[in-house]
Amino acid sequence: MHYSSFLIKYTEIAIKGKNRYLFEDALVSRIRQVLKRVDGDFAVTKNQGRIYVDVEGDYDFDETVAALQCVFGITGICPVVKTEDEGFEKLAKDVIRYLEEAYPSLDQTFKVNARRARKNYPMNSMELNMELGGVILDRFENMKVDVHHPQIMLTVEIREHIFIYSHVIPGPGGMPVGTNGKAMLLLSGGIDSPVAGYMISKRGVKLDAVYFHAPPYTSERAKQKVVDLAKQIAKYAGTIYLHVVNFTDIQLYIYEKCPHDELTIIMRRYMMRIAEHIAKETECLGLVTGESIGQVASQTMQSLASTDEVCTMPVYRPLIGFDKQEIVAVSEKIDTYETSILPFEDCCTIFVAKHPVTKPNLKVIKRHEKHLEEQIDELFAKAIETKELIIIKDCE
Ligand code: ATP
Ligand code: MG
Repeated sequence: MHYSSFLIKYTEIAIKGKNRYLFEDALVSRIRQVLKRVDGDFAVTKNQGRIYVDVEGDYDFDETVAALQCVFGITGICPVVKTEDEGFEKLAKDVIRYLEEAYPSLDQTFKVNARRARKNYPMNSMELNMELGGVILDRFENMKVDVHHPQIMLTVEIREHIFIYSHVIPGPGGMPVGTNGKAMLLLSGGIDSPVAGYMISKRGVKLDAVYFHAPPYTSERAKQKVVDLAKQIAKYAGTIYLHVVNFTDIQLYIYEKCPHDELTIIMRRYMMRIAEHIAKETECLGLVTGESIGQVASQTMQSLASTDEVCTMPVYRPLIGFDKQEIVAVSEKIDTYETSILPFEDCCTIFVAKHPVTKPNLKVIKRHEKHLEEQIDELFAKAIETKELIIIKDCE
């Protein structure tokens, strides 16, 4: 069947009162953006509280739906058959043809949901429901009406054109990116942080990202893996500015000066400090990490408290209550899992101690960080100065 339009359903944003138009405009602009990935002549319009995607000529249906499923704020995607108003007889024929083409067998319960948005149409919604229902019952003997829980909810909208649809393909939900400020994601090559980025972005938050690498201890391939993960997240989150920070000198310095069982925690405190510094420069409103309570030594409540302590910005940890399997399930859904499990070294694992502290004492940590006083400011400034910016576009 050839669908010439899609009706885009969105609920959460519709309740936002007078801000509603801002949300709708953000949604329309994201839809336009993701459709650049698909070959076809698409037009996205907002009309009477509804968003339609119209398409002229040939296009790939599956690719179009896949692109729309990356737009946060969309709850449902309805492929629509659009016809012209040439009287009831013609409409009845179009509806029958629609059902025949859209369903392999017609032995289900249904309800006709007619809406007359154009008041000069000669029949009202009730009359249309009755008449079209009658036509369907006459034509398909195994179809039955069920007004409460129909298997097929057939919507017929009378507007300038006539729209017929019944399928609702689920969208990702959430809110359009850009409607809730921007945050800085600490993106490693692991499974967790890409999922954390996806989840924050789903709430309408635009993302920048920072990756700490430690050449020559971590390879170009490890960095490429992070770039690839950022590309995948950008399909949902839009363009991401990825800041790549060379962390080697700071890591070596900590390694030289601090007790090895505290390396991870002190390193993580420096990562947070640097991430926050960049976040402030780029107008981010918070930091995002992929941490979850108790997953590893550096994610106990005590460890999280001691990494938090260096930040003045809120630190968002959307996976905080997730088990690993739950995180993996999301990463498979958003297609980051296969990249995340590629076996390239991470800068944290190289310098990790055999027995890291699991209950760091903040006073002790701070005392040991004093050992770094001589050079750390200089190394910090150099790390910021030499950072590389990679712009990850969302439709490449
Ligand atoms: P992930 O799977 O996201 O790497 P993890 O379970 O390996 O997480 P850690 O290595 O303790 O956990 O890191 C916790 C969080 O710190 C990560 O989710 C990420 O947000 C951040 N992080 C860790 N290493 C880096 C890095 N090299 N660059 C940027 N952020 C990092
Ligand atoms: Mg990691």
